[in-house]
Amino acid sequence: MREPVFVAPGELALARAAALRLKDALNGAVRRYYIESYGCQMNDHDSEKLAGMLREIGYTQAESKADADLILFNTCCVREHAEKRVFGNIGALKKQKDANPALLIAVCGCMMQQKEVSAKLYKRFPFVDMVFGTNELHKFPLLLEEALRGNRVLAITDSEGEIAEGLPIARSGAFSTNVTIMYGCNNYCTYCIVPYVRGRERSRNSSSIVEEVRLLAEAGYKEITLLGQNVNSYCGDGGAVDFPALLRRVHGVEGIERIRFMTSHPKDLSPGLIEAMAALPRVCNHIHLPVQSGSDRVLAAMNRKYTRASYLACVQALRGKVPGLELTTDVIVGFPGETEEDFADTLTLVEQAGYSAAYTFMYSPRAGTQAATLPDQVPEDVKKQRLQRLNTAMAAILQRNNPKYVGQSGEVLVEGCDMRTTPMAYGKLTNFKMVYFPGGEEWIGTLQRVKIIGVQNNSLIGERIDR
Ligand code: SF4
Repeated sequence: MREPVFVAPGELALARAAALRLKDALNGAVRRYYIESYGCQMNDHDSEKLAGMLREIGYTQAESKADADLILFNTCCVREHAEKRVFGNIGALKKQKDANPALLIAVCGCMMQQKEVSAKLYKRFPFVDMVFGTNELHKFPLLLEEALRGNRVLAITDSEGEIAEGLPIARSGAFSTNVTIMYGCNNYCTYCIVPYVRGRERSRNSSSIVEEVRLLAEAGYKEITLLGQNVNSYCGDGGAVDFPALLRRVHGVEGIERIRFMTSHPKDLSPGLIEAMAALPRVCNHIHLPVQSGSDRVLAAMNRKYTRASYLACVQALRGKVPGLELTTDVIVGFPGETEEDFADTLTLVEQAGYSAAYTFMYSPRAGTQAATLPDQVPEDVKKQRLQRLNTAMAAILQRNNPKYVGQSGEVLVEGCDMRTTPMAYGKLTNFKMVYFPGGEEWIGTLQRVKIIGVQNNSLIGERIDR
């Protein structure tokens, strides 16, 4: 991993000074922002940073786009048809902009980091005021100042990305939140665009992460998720702190009851990480370990750098050491060249791994990736049929496995309350299984002990018990 480059304090100070000037200029006037965020948790977290900067300037959150003075699309290029959807949603704003020329429209995120896409958008929608890439996020107040002066902004730099510490964050949750520990990815899976738009891996210093977690504990947060494209290749402080060591340091912060992390790459799942998960009681007994395929041939074509056997050996080692571990995964069907035999290997792998949930996708080519140019693209109808078969297999596995939880007890961090019939509180066990149990809104954000008494669809039904 290359050494991280941190945004120079002077550059952050310039952005901060712009934020203060904008705040002065607002002079208490009401301005509202609306952020539409696409894609993964990393992008959601970037949106929280943009919201943090806007709140520092004095903007408040709008209920809807119609109420907003600034509409910001934080785009993602990973999912299928993402471009079509974003372009459609931006086009739909023309009427609102015509009716209110003072409305500012901004588009950012990893889709905009693709220069040909941002150039196309900038040209096609002259009413869009600001287009900027992921490397420009920390400069947002400066870009906004420029747009408020009436100048259109197009800011995309090629740099592989610096780390900007100390940006304000308007967190959407009050008791559970994300902490980014690293950015970018070095893995170049042949189907994935992320390394091209998010740059090479770079890790934050462990002391900055621990300090952020400490402040979150002080603010009353109970659960944190350490985020990165590949968290188990975290390599902080000039290589002195690896991911298990970071987990130990974060675990030392008092007040945080649950530590989660995602996403993990199977090739980097070290014995040290398994030991740390087993030894640290506040690290949750759940891991999201994307397998993508059960066929060695397809895994090699995907450049995943592990085999079916080594993956299953990791699963066995995890289950052997971490009590009650639950495993979730991502699977792609219909990768170029995937035969019926390869797909059968995927079906047997999901069976053997015993996942508690799988996020399943049909392969779709992404421009700029190696796999998009591979021969033997699988026909759409075959992909659809395989996806259906995989989902049916997963549903059968869940139906078979879920009753094993009945009679067990555990702690639920209550996320919300469903008031439709009898008020039912809901939240997750440490192993990431969702539980519903009779309870009211007053429990939101608290840890409640429950006993599992039944199963409904993919969730568990519980009843509250005394500690
Ligand atoms: S590990 Fe592979 S799939 Fe995940 S972000 Fe990196 S290149 Fe993409």
